[in-house]
Amino acid sequence: MSTAESSTRNAVDRFMKGLVKRNPDEPEFHQAVREVAESVMPVVLDNKRYQQEEILERMTEPDRVLIFRVTWEDDKGRFRANRAWRVQFNNSIGPYKGGLRFHPSVTLSVLKFLGFEQVFKNSLTGLPMGGAKGGANFNPKGKSEHEVMRFCHSLMIELHRHIGEDTDVPAGDIGVGAREIGYLFGQYKRLENRVTGILTGKGLSFGGSHVRTEATGFGCVYFAEEMLKTRGDSLEGKTAVISGSGNVAIYAAQKLIDMGSRVLTMSDSSGFVHDPEGLDGEKLEFIRDLKENRRGRINEYAEKYPGVEFHSGERPWYVPCDIAMPCATQNEISTDEAQTLLDNGVQVVCEGANMPTELDGVHAFVESGILYAPSKAANAGGVAVSGLEQSQNALRLSWSAEEVDQKLKTIMKNIHEQCVKFGQNGDKVNYVHGANIGGFVRVAEAMSAYGAV
Ligand code: NDP
Repeated sequence: MSTAESSTRNAVDRFMKGLVKRNPDEPEFHQAVREVAESVMPVVLDNKRYQQEEILERMTEPDRVLIFRVTWEDDKGRFRANRAWRVQFNNSIGPYKGGLRFHPSVTLSVLKFLGFEQVFKNSLTGLPMGGAKGGANFNPKGKSEHEVMRFCHSLMIELHRHIGEDTDVPAGDIGVGAREIGYLFGQYKRLENRVTGILTGKGLSFGGSHVRTEATGFGCVYFAEEMLKTRGDSLEGKTAVISGSGNVAIYAAQKLIDMGSRVLTMSDSSGFVHDPEGLDGEKLEFIRDLKENRRGRINEYAEKYPGVEFHSGERPWYVPCDIAMPCATQNEISTDEAQTLLDNGVQVVCEGANMPTELDGVHAFVESGILYAPSKAANAGGVAVSGLEQSQNALRLSWSAEEVDQKLKTIMKNIHEQCVKFGQNGDKVNYVHGANIGGFVRVAEAMSAYGAV
């Protein structure tokens, strides 16, 4: 290890010691910050102003965290209570922006990691958006339509005080799709008597944008194509393993199929299906209907199509493939699974989910020299089109699907260029450093310009 590397490592260790002390019992938040600190510490050590203004310390402290109770009534007339949060992390370059997650695993630590990552991701898009995240430890699975509606309406009774088109604009995430956004938006409209762009991911009939539903998955595939181009290669003929079967996974699969790849797997929290022939448009439509309308389990796919195996309780990472796209949740690729992917010859890992790879797995991908795109670059397409939805709402007009898709492609290309600019290392690109430094500099410069605020 060189002297510079060892002083960076010491500085990161010192910084992390303080952060862990200030934020005990928040392992996901610690993991997300460490990954960024490893990349940006050399930039900070090189810049006296950033040190004197404690830019990194301030950037790792949320502007504010709101915590509130959501009381609702279930179908049996029983009163139920959940905990909800909104972590407004940083609004230096624009109003807070980031999704809402409904899942029993939601904690303050999870939302702080997601809000922190969102700051960098939103900065990379080049659009004026700060970073935030929110959600509740509410489990929509097994709840009736009416229960979900009552929960969303109740949550908005508190949340509406804290959001606004120039303040904070939430969106969907795990467990929050078009249905939930509709309920939340309807309640906001009733409470405030205003129809304005305070949420994104809205239905097309009430201010939503074309391509928002598809944007994260499509954007992730556009990013993979950009990475492959740097090696004179393309997605044509490649095999792909995808996890998840929700919003991100479905549209990543669709775009991969459109671009000539063979998608071998999809999953949910009960296990994964392996289709050696690969999915096609009709099979994917079955999954979309199963998940978006019938809210069924992924094993139904294996029951319907001959030759497909269902692997109960397992993750798909041991299936040999050229491309891996984790599109389910955080830490879904363990360090051992990362090694298995590498041993089986994976060429591209492109993260649709947020922080899906354990930190030592990230190190293994980067050291191996494969094309590895971290989530804050690869899945920024979703929030980018949310930003475009905000612009359309402000202008009170609607762009065509082709126009939005073209803008999405351009934004993903620009993010890729920033990763190359800040992450070039000899003849390779370290996309982790590229994304972290590219995202950091824009926010750091804005914070510095504001003085001690
Ligand atoms: P959805 O709720 O639509 O789908 C989530 C999928 O992941 C489901 O198949 C779900 O299975 C599976 N899943 C969730 N939690 C777990 C778990 N703990 N273990 C195994 N499988 C799990 O969410 P999205 O597709 O919107 O989000 C997926 C990921 O992409 C998340 O990390 C999210 O933060 C990220 N993301 C989403 C964006 C968006 O625009 N929607 C934008 C950027 C990032 P099951 O149904 O069985 O729970």
